[in-house]
Amino acid sequence: MADYPYNTARWQRLRIAHLRLSPLCIGCAAMSIVRPANTVDHTRAISAGGPAFPGHDGLASYCAACHSAKTARGTEAGAAKTQRPRKGCDVNGNPLDPAHPWNAEKSLRAEGSRTEHGHENSISLIG
Ligand SMILES: [Zn+2]
Repeated sequence: MADYPYNTARWQRLRIAHLRLSPLCIGCAAMSIVRPANTVDHTRAISAGGPAFPGHDGLASYCAACHSAKTARGTEAGAAKTQRPRKGCDVNGNPLDPAHPWNAEKSLRAEGSRTEHGHENSISLIG
C-alpha cells in the first residue's frame, strides 16, 4: 500500500477528495448497508493499464472489508477483461459467472416453483 501511487501527495489529495464526494462504501450500499468508506479503489486496476490518478468516475469508495474482499476476488471480478470464468459470488451467494451451472439450474428451479405454486396460471398458459 505504500507503493506508487499511494505514497504520493497527489494520491492522498485525490483519495480525500473522493471520500468527500463519495463517503459511503459502495459495496455495502449494494447490500443496503450504510457504512463509511475509508478506502479508495481504482475501478480499473493500475496493473490492468488503468490510470494511476483517474477522475472520480475511475475511483470507488469501499470500507476495508469490502475492499479486501474485492481484492481477493481478483481483477476478473470487475469489468470483464478475459474469457475466463468469473470467480466469486454476488451478495446473495450466487456465482458471478453467468455460465456457471448454478445459474442454469436456477432458471430451471424458478420454472419448477412457478408450476408448483401456480397451477391455474400454468394451465391457462397451456390452454
Ligand atoms: Zn463495505
